[in-house]
Amino acid sequence: MSLVVQKFGGTSVADTDRIKAVADHIARSKRSGDSIVVVVSAMGKTTDELLHLANQVSKVIPGREMDMLWTAGERISMALVCMALAEREIPAASFTGSQAGIVTDELHTRARIVQVKGDRIRSALAAGLVPVVAGFQGVSTANDVTTLGRGGSDTTAVALAAALGADRCEIYTDVSGVFSADPRIVPSARKLPRISFEEMLEIAATGGRVLALRSVEFARNHHVSLLVRSSFTWEPGTLVTEEDPSMEQPVVSAVTSDATSAKITLSGVADRPGIAAALFRGLADRHVNVDMIVQNVSHDGTTDISFTAPKDDVAASLEVAEAMRPSLGAVSVVADDDVAQVSLVGAGMKTNPGVTATMFETLAGAGINIEMISTSPIRISCMVRAEVAERAVQVLHAAFALDT
Ligand code: ADP
Ligand code: ASP
Ligand code: MG
Repeated sequence: MSLVVQKFGGTSVADTDRIKAVADHIARSKRSGDSIVVVVSAMGKTTDELLHLANQVSKVIPGREMDMLWTAGERISMALVCMALAEREIPAASFTGSQAGIVTDELHTRARIVQVKGDRIRSALAAGLVPVVAGFQGVSTANDVTTLGRGGSDTTAVALAAALGADRCEIYTDVSGVFSADPRIVPSARKLPRISFEEMLEIAATGGRVLALRSVEFARNHHVSLLVRSSFTWEPGTLVTEEDPSMEQPVVSAVTSDATSAKITLSGVADRPGIAAALFRGLADRHVNVDMIVQNVSHDGTTDISFTAPKDDVAASLEVAEAMRPSLGAVSVVADDDVAQVSLVGAGMKTNPGVTATMFETLAGAGINIEMISTSPIRISCMVRAEVAERAVQVLHAAFALDT
């Protein structure tokens, strides 16, 4: 008998028929003899709709209240899934994040898990029940309801799997696994049977939203292998796990794009020690997640600094930069929302020079201008105009023959 965590995303529980299909699958898994813990997301686009509702009543949205509103979404699905299981004579009980003992810090709307107690989940399992846990939510050390950042139900599933010592963690979604590119952008993209945590981290960090970044970090740190599968076709999916040293690593595994960041440029900044330190400390103090950074060659003792940050953090970034402008000696601060990052990810890049050159040649051949570049040992990212990002993904996918 195995202990299996099964997580169902928003499209998997989007309507009552989908909830019944999911309940059938849980019932089959339970009857096969396994112990099952279920994690559910809010139905369909509920999370977006709740945000829209909030924006309609106020320009000021306190994080605590947004979290109170958002957590209602997952409560609806968990109760409905339990009811559908009851009709199938599978004893089940729903639990909020707080009831499941998912304790977080106090950073509303993007809280981090600090502890998973899970006592009530263990008791429910011992009593033969299927615990159905609301994803994406926890309770802060100050006893307030929190959410874990968009896509956070994946993180709930992995954190529970780690805390309970589950044998498997299955992530059910609307695609049949992790592909060489988002199948919505590249219909010929190939499903990857297996991918390492390291590559999956880079894919998740650069826009491949099939798994939330935090969930992959958690999975790698706690050695929880993930199986990404479709709740529509139930076909074999992608195993996300430790790198297999006996296998040759693909040079490029996936192409991703991400239009959720903006570029912020400070011009005419004084070129002396301490300037970058002051700016990026100020941004860090406001929890701005800076990604790419470019500093130009100095002319006449001044330089330009550009960095990228999530669009949600633009207001905070501009406040920090504007407040520091006099001390940095900067002439102007501008934000540009119309950019997107296109990335190549592949563990084999480490040992295969020439990938960067082929990437640049391919983009140049398509008339696509590169505005910023950043790399890791297994990733190359280029910032381009947002309107050409999809085409960039398509030409790169073809250039590296990823659909063959
Ligand atoms: P869920 O609601 O189940 O959590 P998400 O919408 O968060 O689902 O993630 C699934 C989506 O991720 C897919 O519909 C797909 O469009 C997108 N996606 C982006 N990149 C990839 C990729 N490389 N492989 C598979 N799916 C991807
Ligand atoms: N419902 C939340 C969201 O849409 C969490 C999740 O689906 O993972 O972001
Ligand atoms: Mg998701």
